[in-house]
Amino acid sequence: MSLATGPAADAFVPSDEEQRIRETVATIANRYGRAYMQRCSEEERPPVELWDELGAAGYLGVNIPAEYDGGGLGMTALAAVGEELAFAGTPLLLILVSPAIAGSVLARHGSPEQRERWLRGIGRGDLRMAFAITEPDAGTNTHNLAMQATRTDGGWRLRGTKVFISGVEMAHALFVVARTGERDATTGYGRLSLFIVDVDAPGLQRTVIPTATRGADRQWQLFFDDVEVPADRLVGNEGEGLRLVFDGLNPERIMTAVQCTGIARQALDKASAYARERVVWNAPIGSHQGVSHPLAEAKIELELARTMTRKACALYDAAAKGAGEAANMAKFAAAEAGVKCVDRAIQAHGGNGVALEYGLADLWWGVRTAKIAPVSREMILNYVAEHSLRLPRSY
Ligand SMILES: Cc1cc2nc3c(=O)[nH]c(=O)nc-3n(C[C@H](O)[C@H](O)[C@H](O)COP(=O)(O)OP(=O)(O)OC[C@H]3O[C@@H](n4cnc5c(N)ncnc54)[C@H](O)[C@@H]3O)c2cc1C
Repeated sequence: MSLATGPAADAFVPSDEEQRIRETVATIANRYGRAYMQRCSEEERPPVELWDELGAAGYLGVNIPAEYDGGGLGMTALAAVGEELAFAGTPLLLILVSPAIAGSVLARHGSPEQRERWLRGIGRGDLRMAFAITEPDAGTNTHNLAMQATRTDGGWRLRGTKVFISGVEMAHALFVVARTGERDATTGYGRLSLFIVDVDAPGLQRTVIPTATRGADRQWQLFFDDVEVPADRLVGNEGEGLRLVFDGLNPERIMTAVQCTGIARQALDKASAYARERVVWNAPIGSHQGVSHPLAEAKIELELARTMTRKACALYDAAAKGAGEAANMAKFAAAEAGVKCVDRAIQAHGGNGVALEYGLADLWWGVRTAKIAPVSREMILNYVAEHSLRLPRSY
């Protein structure tokens, strides 16, 4: 008999619905598996079949309001989908972006027409959006973005360069952050605005950035050479782009966290199975504490990160105070735990840890990248120092 009920208990006990979501997503993902993602990566084509099947079954819009064809189940549900996909070896990078960033922002700030045109497709899972904010010369300092959107008779004209933009090959449209108007004379900050741009808009060119990651998605440099954008593609008010985007960045952090915890679960499962079987002296290597303790320690860090991620989901879904702090901490903890779990799983495999057949080397960049993107560990430490500890800002 349960002794505690109510929201506090609910946040930490997976509901029957969440368990059903996890089981069904795992079943679909396992039919594709790591081999499918490797094929997509080798053939340089996006994992559209997996996306489409999950979308048609309703799992890629679980967080989108039901009135826009989504599941209406919030970030807790989308996080469950993302973690099971990563655990099955089939992480989908655009799930961090399309339903998490674009879906969250449009649900809160899109005009009725924009919601009808874009959010409904994201809810159904058949419309995918990528997100373009990073620029070569601005980096982490978003206030320094150089891409300029200039007013025209019918809307806006975009000029500038974006870098490291993920999943453009699979996206139908882009969420683009650009500067409108002049920089503020006192702060030096630009006024930023948010636009929806078609991936095949005239004047938009792209080149792939070769990266170490072995996932199916790719990263791109985008060149906007006077790209015309109609007036109805401005999301929210001019100059409010950054404030709007922040409503999507916490969901993105949560989804990055579950990508890491899913990969970490997979690595530890592989490591413990191997350490139970592999005998080089007279007993399985897992009986040596030099092998078992590092794995046990990594498991504890993984579960702590998962707990913080659940907290972040619960706070975000309740629109409660502290959601931003929890999402940042969850992403930080999950990236650290992910790297530790994968590294220790590699160690437990000895030489086989680097043999491609064992699938561990493939996992490395998936977790290591999360220390850098979408927000670096240093910028999260800056956030916690400034906002949680009220220490002076250092930059
Ligand atoms: C695989 C991948 C996918 C990506 N996908 C996308 C995408 O889809 N869309 C998109 O817009 N961007 C994307 N990015 C970009 C990503 O968000 C940035 O790389 C990230 O925000 C860091 O910016 P930067 O690379 O310019 O690093 P920089 O800003 O140049 O920073 C370099 C280093 O200095 C540190 N640093 C900088 N300022 C400070 C400070 N004040 N205090 C302490 N340390 C500091 C940083 O933490 C970092 O370690 C992606 C990147 C990667 C690697």
